[in-house]
Amino acid sequence: MSYIASRLSAVKPSASMAASQAAKALRAKGVDVIDLGLGEPDFPTPSHIIEAAHVAAKAGQTLYTGAAGTAEVREAVAGKFRRENGLDYTADDVVVANGAKQIIFNALMATLESGDEAILPAPYFVSYPEMVKLLGGTPVVIEPETSGFRLTPELLEKAITPRTKWLFLNMPGNPSGAIYSQSDLRALGAVLARHPQVLVLSDEIYEHILFDGRDFVSFGKACPELRDRTLIVNGVSKSYAMTGWRVGYAAGPAPLTRAMAIIQSQSCTSVCSIAQAATVAALNGPQDEVARFRQAFEARRDLVVDGIRRINGLTLSPPEGAFYAYIGCASLIGRRTPKGVVLEDDTAVANYLLNEGRVASVPGAAYGLSPYFRISTATGEEVLTEAIARINAAVAQVE
Ligand code: PMP
Repeated sequence: MSYIASRLSAVKPSASMAASQAAKALRAKGVDVIDLGLGEPDFPTPSHIIEAAHVAAKAGQTLYTGAAGTAEVREAVAGKFRRENGLDYTADDVVVANGAKQIIFNALMATLESGDEAILPAPYFVSYPEMVKLLGGTPVVIEPETSGFRLTPELLEKAITPRTKWLFLNMPGNPSGAIYSQSDLRALGAVLARHPQVLVLSDEIYEHILFDGRDFVSFGKACPELRDRTLIVNGVSKSYAMTGWRVGYAAGPAPLTRAMAIIQSQSCTSVCSIAQAATVAALNGPQDEVARFRQAFEARRDLVVDGIRRINGLTLSPPEGAFYAYIGCASLIGRRTPKGVVLEDDTAVANYLLNEGRVASVPGAAYGLSPYFRISTATGEEVLTEAIARINAAVAQVE
């Protein structure tokens, strides 16, 4: 396929989407597969948000909007940052895009020169390294496995070079669920203060899905001295069960957000006007559903931690947030399935769990840290219980 540009040669399709497709293909053949591949809330979007979209459409909010988003949605985002994160941004500092994914893509496109490095603490969200590569950059992966999947100042200092353009942080993390305290962030900030060439992308999209009474601290709040080189990324997908509406947003330094809006104006014009109106209702409206979702995710986290801990051969430290379990499977590697297949790596483990256990998961290789596999816990307790029983039965048969 020689007409495909060389920039695609190193880029993989999304591993979580691929896992879901494999599950769908098996289902189409009549196999009863539980799909724990993709991470999206299984709750319906709260009805007042849907109502707001309906009203906006009927009122004629059906035209292109400004590239950075409507004034109303940017005001609502600035209000959210003030109210929930203690961050003082105005609507002019805010840009809205088709999902946090497009925000990140635009930010990288606006800044990366060929060979620029982006530091990615593993396990990372699957799209980070692929976007970096697609835009000519070089992912630099750090593995902070022994510090609770949290990047430490020492590891950060070691990874920074004169070519470092970005540090990516994601808290709570997908797939680890790890979060950073104010003092963790300040310690990272102290390292960054010595390296003025480094920009920080703080992906805070799971901020409302936090467990055990933990409080969320935005990177922007912890390190205000780095404001001129920090992009705070967020969106409505996870907090408001709005993955399909495709609205993400960010606040950051004006030169960066302006450049991101220019890219957007030339690539997609604007985010869907109706989805922007729904986002205003989500951010400004009642927040009780957000709290209800959080509680449900915590109960599921408890169920999964308890179930996985009973399975001989798997390990899981309780995720502190988000809706995933990143399950260690080191003791399965090198062992044989009943069909005589050697489980060489976590991709083989995920394949085995899919084909013999009938549970779709995503191998740790996709997140840059092995041997693990990720399951999404954004599904009902009955389904999770059945999935754990299947995983247990499959693991028990490994020799
Ligand atoms: N960041 C992280 C860490 C995610 O897990 C996801 C979604 N899986 C996104 C960003 C993208 O979210 P959106 O739906 O807003 O594009």
